[in-house]
Amino acid sequence: MNTDVIRFDNDIYQIDVHMEDKPQRMSCYYIDTSDPILIEVGPSNSFPFLISALESLGIQDIKRTAITHLHLDHVGGIGHLNERYKENFVYVHELGLKHLPNPERLWKAVCDVYTEEWLIKNWGEIKPTPLKNIKSLNHGSDIKLESNRNLKALYSPGHAKHHYTFYDEFSGTLFMGDTLGLIYPHGDFVQPNLPPPDFDKEILFQTLDSFEKLEINQLAIAHFGIHKNSRELIKDAKESIENWLLFINNIENLNIDDASNELVNWLTNNYKSLGIDDETIKNYIGNGNFVMQVEGIRNYLSKRN
Ligand SMILES: [Zn+2]
Repeated sequence: MNTDVIRFDNDIYQIDVHMEDKPQRMSCYYIDTSDPILIEVGPSNSFPFLISALESLGIQDIKRTAITHLHLDHVGGIGHLNERYKENFVYVHELGLKHLPNPERLWKAVCDVYTEEWLIKNWGEIKPTPLKNIKSLNHGSDIKLESNRNLKALYSPGHAKHHYTFYDEFSGTLFMGDTLGLIYPHGDFVQPNLPPPDFDKEILFQTLDSFEKLEINQLAIAHFGIHKNSRELIKDAKESIENWLLFINNIENLNIDDASNELVNWLTNNYKSLGIDDETIKNYIGNGNFVMQVEGIRNYLSKRN
C-alpha cells in the first residue's frame, strides 16, 4: 500500500491521484469487497498514480468502475483504464453512452472553459471507451458489492445534470462526487462548486435534502477525502451557496473578470476573518476556477429571473 492510499473501515480505500501533479486535489475510492468496485478514475494525466496505487494494494485487474459525473477531472482517464482492463464495465449516467465512446464533445466543452493548451498540460487527453463496456445508471439501482452489501446509485443533479452519488448503506458512506463542493484537508468547511451550464440552486438543495434522510457515517468527497461531520458540512454548503448567490447578485454590473476578482477578494477576507491559516486559504483559492463560478451563478440567476 503506497502513501497515496488511505485505508478506512469496511474495506474502503481512498486513493490520491495527484491531479495537476499536486497532492490532495482529487480522490478516487476503491471498495475491496468480493465484487470490488473503483469509484472515479480522475483525469488522464493522473492515470499512472491511480495504477501504481492499485498495484500497491495487489490489485491487478479492475472489472467495475462507477463514475459520479462526466466532468473530465472525474472521468477523463476512463479510456486509459478500459484500454488496460478490457473487461471493465463503467457505471455512469445515460449520457455516458453517447459521450464516452466519442469523447470529442466532452473535450470541446472543457476546452471552451479552460483552453485546450491548459487541458492537455493539466488533465490530459481523453480516449474513447467502447459502448459495450458502458452501463447506464438508474435512480435507486443497486450495484452488488457482496452478499449483504450494495452500492446504491442516487441521481443527484444540481452541480451537473448527469451526476450520480453512490450510497454504501453497510458502511454509511456517501460517495459524493462534486455535489457538495470542495473540502480540502485542514478545512472543515465547504467551498461551493457551481459551474455552468447546469448549476441550479433549487435542484441542488433538493438533492442535498434527500441525502439528509440517509444514515450517513461519512462523506467521501472527490475534492478531497473522507469527512465524518456530514450534517454540518451539508448545512455549511447550503449557507455558503446562499451567500455566494447574494454576493454575485449584488455585483451584477461588473464584467466577468472583475466579478471573479471581487469574489476572490471577498472570499479571502471571509476565510481570514474565520481564522483560517494562509496555507489552507491558498489551497482553496488556488483550486477554484472563479470565472467559471461567476458564470455558473449568473447563468442560474438569469434562468430564475
Ligand atoms: Zn470535480
